[in-house]
Amino acid sequence: MKYIIGIDLGGTNLKLGLFDQKLKIKDRKVLSTRVFKAKDSLIKAIVGSVEDVLCRNNLKKKDILGIGLGLPGPIDFPRGVVHFFPNIPGWKNIPLKKILKARLAMEIFMDNDANLMSLAEQRLGAARNFRNVFCVTLGTGIGGGIILEGRLYRGSGFASGEIGHIPINESGPRCNCGGIACIESYIGNRRIMSAAAKIFGKKITLEQLSQLAKKKNRPACAIWSGAGKKLGIALTGVVNLLNPDCVVIGGGVANAGKALFESIKNTVKIRAMPVQAAQVKILKAKLGDDAGMIGAALLVKESAHY
Ligand SMILES: [Zn+2]
Repeated sequence: MKYIIGIDLGGTNLKLGLFDQKLKIKDRKVLSTRVFKAKDSLIKAIVGSVEDVLCRNNLKKKDILGIGLGLPGPIDFPRGVVHFFPNIPGWKNIPLKKILKARLAMEIFMDNDANLMSLAEQRLGAARNFRNVFCVTLGTGIGGGIILEGRLYRGSGFASGEIGHIPINESGPRCNCGGIACIESYIGNRRIMSAAAKIFGKKITLEQLSQLAKKKNRPACAIWSGAGKKLGIALTGVVNLLNPDCVVIGGGVANAGKALFESIKNTVKIRAMPVQAAQVKILKAKLGDDAGMIGAALLVKESAHY
């Protein structure tokens, strides 16, 4: 039997999973990405983690069907070139697939992390049994992925699904992407934290803010429901445009709880057009932190030639 390696590379962690072909996880490894300042040391760490997991499971390269990578930025999917990573400096037009193939001598597949999270949730998670799905991941950035008629829709330049960069006003803050008034510049992690610091008069983490909201602290609930309303408005546009069966909400911030989730749900239900609003289910992601790794393994399983 052959195995699959799924890697989820984020701004904070590199998560690697060894999967069997039924996508049951057999082993895992997590590294902090922050310690690898330079591009080359991060690539070395990826190679090292793969070799380490092979070694400790007594596997040879020929036992691996392929390695899938979910990456935090726009990817030229077929060529395996990283256009750039918004939150990891030093990566611009890097032919990562070619580099890894040369160092590891295994089949390499890669895609944007939000795309792979969507694939995982639609195949094995919250959106199982739905054909038309939109997934959102809430974190430092806000990502999204589109599944249409059961297939991942990537767009002509493989850059679709960027809900974080839907503008919600004519004018407003300048976004990292170069755009103006993108939703990410209103409700990205950093924005929520700075809004919370102003209200509470001290630095407060997102976990603390979520805990406060769970205890029904009013200002904390107001921050989350305000963020949910903004996201709900952007999602209303998506729901009207795509008429999906469901929208799946995942990522770290999705754990903020009821105040955020209910506000997203209510906004979409109230604001979307009647046919789309009646159809769409707003669901919480099911695969949690493993979604990216599972999606990366699915990418290999569905793309590799046996
Ligand atoms: Zn933007």
